[in-house]
Amino acid sequence: MKTISILGSTGSIGCSALEVIKLHPDKFDIFALSGYENIDLLFKQAMEFKPTYIVTKDEESQIKLSGLLKEKNQGTEVLFGPEGYKFIAGHVKVSTVLAAITGAAGLVSTMEAAVKGKRILLANKESMVMAGNLLSEVSAENNGIIIPVDSEHNAIFQVIHDQKNQNEINKLILTASGGPFWNSSLVELSNVSITDALKHPNWSMGRKVTIDSATMMNKGLEVIEAAYLFKIDYKKIEVLIHPQSIIHSLVEFIDGSSLTQLGTPDMKVPIAYALSFPERIASGVRGIDLSLSNDLQFELPDLEKFRCLKLAYDCLEQGGSYPIEINATNEIAVDAFLSKKIKFTQISELIETALNEAKSSNIESIEDILEVDKQARIKARLLLKGSKFA
Ligand code: MG
Repeated sequence: MKTISILGSTGSIGCSALEVIKLHPDKFDIFALSGYENIDLLFKQAMEFKPTYIVTKDEESQIKLSGLLKEKNQGTEVLFGPEGYKFIAGHVKVSTVLAAITGAAGLVSTMEAAVKGKRILLANKESMVMAGNLLSEVSAENNGIIIPVDSEHNAIFQVIHDQKNQNEINKLILTASGGPFWNSSLVELSNVSITDALKHPNWSMGRKVTIDSATMMNKGLEVIEAAYLFKIDYKKIEVLIHPQSIIHSLVEFIDGSSLTQLGTPDMKVPIAYALSFPERIASGVRGIDLSLSNDLQFELPDLEKFRCLKLAYDCLEQGGSYPIEINATNEIAVDAFLSKKIKFTQISELIETALNEAKSSNIESIEDILEVDKQARIKARLLLKGSKFA
């Protein structure tokens, strides 16, 4: 029986994970759940999964949820805030932590799980982008393991988790759906609406990652994630647009063989794999019928059109604190787009302007990371107020 804490149980990944877990009551026990402000859903989840703890955003939501649970005589204890998330990520009774909080907000709790040597099911790619080698090192030092939930990295992990010699890997090819705009022109891109950008053709995901998919920053962050996770030179990581999202990435070896994982684009597949690794369990998702998918397409991404992807590669080349800068600035830019302050194409313009002004610094601790993140956000907000973007 694995005892699990879910960081971000009300999001898209968290909900999918709970659906998989529900299929296997003999294998998994939910120790703690956590969300941000979706109290109604947390209440529902508490009634169904009866966790020992639930963590909410702040004291106000904690009081509200506690009250609702007491009315039903449900004994779950409700905690709140950053200390709460950290507490459930590092608790001695927990073996497995699903890190599914979106954005930089997930970093501190994911790091706590690494410090305590947990099995981390990593859906929060931003924490790998920000903490990079530090997160992997801390996890390894404490006999933990990080299993990627991100579908592309999960596919690669399935292929190379027992790979002895890294030199046998020629390259990693991350597939990308290309999002809703892979076929649009640059001119069309400058006029897309929030609704257009939130319409992802294949995957049903949260708002932030859906916008990231539309700009292809998602793939950029995934290239950075892959470089750190698999300890591979970024020059050996390529991106290939594959609009059908059936092949979830490839590994090319030096003998010319390429291996891959195929599956229906449903996050329950990589989640089930990460939950049960090295065994396999039912995910509730049917396999793909290739006889019905006879039109699989592949195309190289246009780095002028999808500037964010190019900028992510640039950040890997620069190293140091650049991956933290791009992640922080992107979060501010996506927020600004979603609140109608900037146009879609200005997302990459804001990031590029910020990166041009950034200076690299050495990263040695989580405090260093958080400081760079904080300063990058301040700078990005200032740029938003400047003449170029206001
Ligand atoms: Mg992905």
